[in-house]
Order: sequence, then structure tokens, then C-alpha cells
Amino acid sequence: MTSQDPNPASAPATEQNTGNGAEPARQDPDRRTPCPWLAPAEQPLSEAFDLALLDLDGVVYLGPQAVDGAVPALGAAKDAGMRLAYVTNNAARPPQVVADHLRELGIPAEPSEVVTSAQVAASLLARRLPAGAGVLVVGGQGLRQALREEGLEPVEALSDGPQAVVQGFSPDLGWLQLAEGADAVRSGLFWMATNLDMTVPRATGPAPGNGTLVAAVRTAAGREPDQVAGKPDPAPFVETVRRLGSERPLVVGDRLDTDLEGARAARIPGLLVLTGVSGVPDLLTCPEHRRPTFLGADLSALAVPHPATTVRTRPEDEAPAGPDSPSGGVEATCREAQVVVGTCAGGTVRAEVVRPGEDALDLLRAACSAVWAWNDSARTASRSRRRVDTSEISTVLERQTQGAPWSR
Ligand SMILES: [Mg+2]
Repeated sequence: MTSQDPNPASAPATEQNTGNGAEPARQDPDRRTPCPWLAPAEQPLSEAFDLALLDLDGVVYLGPQAVDGAVPALGAAKDAGMRLAYVTNNAARPPQVVADHLRELGIPAEPSEVVTSAQVAASLLARRLPAGAGVLVVGGQGLRQALREEGLEPVEALSDGPQAVVQGFSPDLGWLQLAEGADAVRSGLFWMATNLDMTVPRATGPAPGNGTLVAAVRTAAGREPDQVAGKPDPAPFVETVRRLGSERPLVVGDRLDTDLEGARAARIPGLLVLTGVSGVPDLLTCPEHRRPTFLGADLSALAVPHPATTVRTRPEDEAPAGPDSPSGGVEATCREAQVVVGTCAGGTVRAEVVRPGEDALDLLRAACSAVWAWNDSARTASRSRRRVDTSEISTVLERQTQGAPWSR
């Protein structure tokens, strides 16, 4: 078994989480259960899965430049038999332009392997509107082309008589387009947003994304978009899997709130790479519906097997490792790495590194499993859900990776 149902029903067995409200039964103190979120893969992911549904910004490239190591990693994945498709919330550029950009970077790609949120939005609009209907575009060329391909007519002004409004990211979007969009939305037209990403990653750091531009229109028009087409809606993944006929797809993304949430919604395993927006602190506090199945520093994670992570509930009377160490709580192990989360003397809840292990990613897997298990059990327990202090995890990860950017 190389993948798991990404929406497992079971949480790790803990004394607080028996599920039936009855007095919890005493469990074997040595009993370990697999982490219900992170899965092992005995083969490299590029062999275990037949199609990678890759996000672009923050995964394959950052602005015009390829992410370090992405080009050889994708070449190796392809050589191992994995097909590659690109599923992006960025609506600015048509698939042909994206494919040309990928080829310039040295990644062979066809326009048919690129699915943009502009295409998904246009396809959804075409199902609601008569053929040839005008749609006011608050966005760029990618949106206009996607509408035409679906038999709809992009228009620029409310006076052109549009029957809907579509809004997607464009670096050339100006105030006049936002103002026209706000007038059209306020008039009551159906309003489709391609996505609500609040930021787009650039080499210099996060920049305002479509979510901020949608917020500008929402503020002026006084209402929410009627529909959002892109990730985390599962539609882009489901559509790409159907189009390419995959049986074992894998989502690969850098954002928990779009890529990985969309993967869970589509019931497809997801690999989080730490080259873009979401970082270690986001991951450790990640809610259930956004948790990844696999973790990688970057796309080289496609070329390797992934180890199992197990969770154990520690009896309250088990001796803590030291005077400041947590007692009881949960312990997670990934190969040599081990992390405990529990309440310390004084009442603080802390994640403690018992053993860092050889591989910093193993430590991160163990830390995620322990913190998630603690948070999940705290939700159903009578005890209050205190925020877990994970500062020791961050310190040890940075030391172990000699300050690699992904560890922060
Ligand atoms: Mg991204």
C-alpha cells in the first residue's frame, strides 16, 4: 500500500478520543498506531503514482525563475513513468503561454497538460449562460481566451450588456477594471471568482493575489462572489484526472489552504513542498481538512520512498524525560526522530524533541503527527485546547538543516 485514503475517518486512538462518550478504556501503553494523516510510500512517489497534479507558483517556478532543483526533479519523475499536469489558480496566462514558459525553463509541457482556474471558471460559466453571452472580465488575457474557448464573449464595460462577471488575477489589472467590476457586481450580475488566494509568491516574497483584488470589489459592491472556481474547490483536480485518465493521481502543491485542501476535497493524496507559501509553522497548526499525505522540502521528494509515522498515547503516569518535559500526552515517531507533546509542570503545552533523528524531514513528520494528534484529541477532550509551544521544533529543524529556507 503506497497511498492512503486522504480523508481517513479515524483519528489516533487516545484516551480522550474513544468517540462514544463512555469511560475510556485503559490502553496498552506501548500501542502505536499509524499517523492517520501522513502516509508511508514504499516506492518513490514517482513510481507509486501515475500522474502529478502540480501547482506552478511556488512549486515549479517563482516568477520567471524555476525553483531550485525543480527542472531535474520533474525530468526524473517523468523518466520514472509519472505523467505531469499543471493545475494553477493563476488565471493571468493562457495554457499555451504557461507551456511555453515551462519549456523555456527546460520542462517539456503541452498546453493540454495545463489547467488554469480561468479555464475552470469559463467552463462553469458556460454551463449557466447561453452560448455567446457577454461576460465582464476583471482580469487578463488568460480569462478572455478561456471565455472565448467556451463560446462566451468577454466584454469590458457594464454598458456592453454582460450576463455575468468573472474576476481573476492579472498583473496588469488596474483601478478602472476593479471599479467597472464593482458596478457590475452591485447591479446583481452573477459573480465568479477564479480563486481567492490572498498572495502570489514572488522571488522577493509574497505579493497581493486575486483574493485581495476580489476583496476590493467586495468592499465596493457589498457582497461576496457567487462562486469560486479554483482550488480548494476539487473541480480543477477532478477535471484534470478525468481529462488525462489517471488512476493514481497525486496533488503536489505549496499551499495548505488551496492545493492541499483541494486534494482532501477531491480525495486525492497530496504532497506539500516547502518552496512556496506555506511553511513549517502553518503546517504544525494545520486543521484536518488541509493536512498533506506526504511532506517534502522540494520536488526531489518525488524521487524517494516516504517513511511511516506512528503515534502513541503516553499514560499520565509515565515518567517525563526531565523536570521541564511534558508528562502524558502523545508521542510520534518517524524512523529515528521522536517528538512528544504534552502538558509541562506549570501548565504550558509543549512539543519536545526526544530524538532529532538523521533526517530533518523525519523530525518534521514526527512533530506534525504529534501536534495534530494532540490538537485533535484536545478538541474532543474536556481539557482546554491550549496552543502548543513548538519553538523547540523550529530551533532543532533550523540547526539540523543549517538554516535551510524550508525549515523556517
Ligand atoms: Mg502555489
